[in-house]
Amino acid sequence: MPELPEVETVRRGLAPAMLGARIEKVELRRADIRFPFPEGFEKRLTGRQIVEVNRRAKYLLFQLDSGETLIVHLGMSGSFRMEKTAVSTPGKFHHERAKDPKHDHVVLVLDNAWVVTYNDPRRFGFMDLTPTEALAKHPRLRGLGAEPLAPEFDAHCLAKLFAGARISLKAGLLDQKRVAGLGNIYVCEALFRARLAPSREASILADARGASTRAAFAVAEAIRNVLEEAVEAGGSTLRDHRQANGELGYFQHVFKVYDREGLRCVRERCRGIIARITQSGRSTFYCSKCQR
Ligand SMILES: [Zn+2]
Repeated sequence: MPELPEVETVRRGLAPAMLGARIEKVELRRADIRFPFPEGFEKRLTGRQIVEVNRRAKYLLFQLDSGETLIVHLGMSGSFRMEKTAVSTPGKFHHERAKDPKHDHVVLVLDNAWVVTYNDPRRFGFMDLTPTEALAKHPRLRGLGAEPLAPEFDAHCLAKLFAGARISLKAGLLDQKRVAGLGNIYVCEALFRARLAPSREASILADARGASTRAAFAVAEAIRNVLEEAVEAGGSTLRDHRQANGELGYFQHVFKVYDREGLRCVRERCRGIIARITQSGRSTFYCSKCQR
C-alpha cells in the first residue's frame, strides 16, 4: 500500500506534466475502480485545464479550471504512468512493462503530448470530482488531522493535538483525525528517531499548561525527517524509473526498526534488539533499550 511519501513522490512526478495542461481526452476502460466513477466523469474532465496539483494526506488533488477538483486515492495498488505520445510505441512498450495493460483503467491525454495512465490491479483506488470550494467537506477529506509535511506541523501543533490524550504515542500518531496520512511504518520509524517508546502516553507531548515539551520537538522533527528522507529517496527512484518506463508510485523503503524484529538496533552504541509488540491490532517495532 502506498505510504504518504510515495503519494507525495507521485504528486511531484506528475506535476511537471500535468500542471497547466489541458485534458484533451479521457478514456475510461471500465465503469468503476473501487467505486463507480462520478456521473459525467469524462465530460467534466474533458477540455479542462489542471491549475494545481496538490496532496492532502494520501489523496492527490488535481484542481481544474472548471471549479472542480479531481480527487485520486491510489488504494492498495494504484499507480500512474507517464508517456509522451510522440515517442511511445504502445504495442512493444506494453509487452515490456511489468504491469499488465489490462489494469490500465483511466487514460488522460493532455494537450502537451503527455499521456497519463492510471493502473490499478487490485482496484482499491478511487477517483471523484467535487467542487473545489467544498473540498474540505468531502466525506473523504472532512475531519482529517494535521498535514505532517505542512510547514505549520511542529512541536506546538503536536502539543495542542495531544495535551491530556490518554492514548499511546503509537495509537495517537496513527489517529488520522489528529495527524493525517501517517501509516504504521512511519510512526514506528519516527518514534525510533525520537527515542520514545511507542507505549508512552501521547500526553507527554504537552506539559501541564499545554505547552510543547522536549518530546514534542523530538517527535515533530522525527516525523518531518523520516517523511522527507523517504520522499527524497522516492524521488531518486522515480528518476531511474522514469527513464525505464515512466511508472510512478512505489519504491523501496529503508527502515531502521520496521519489520526488523530480532535484529540488532542500528543506533550506534545501542546493544538493543528490535522487538515487535501489537498495539491496537497493528505490529509495532521498537528498541526497548534506546526508546524510552
Ligand atoms: Zn536501540
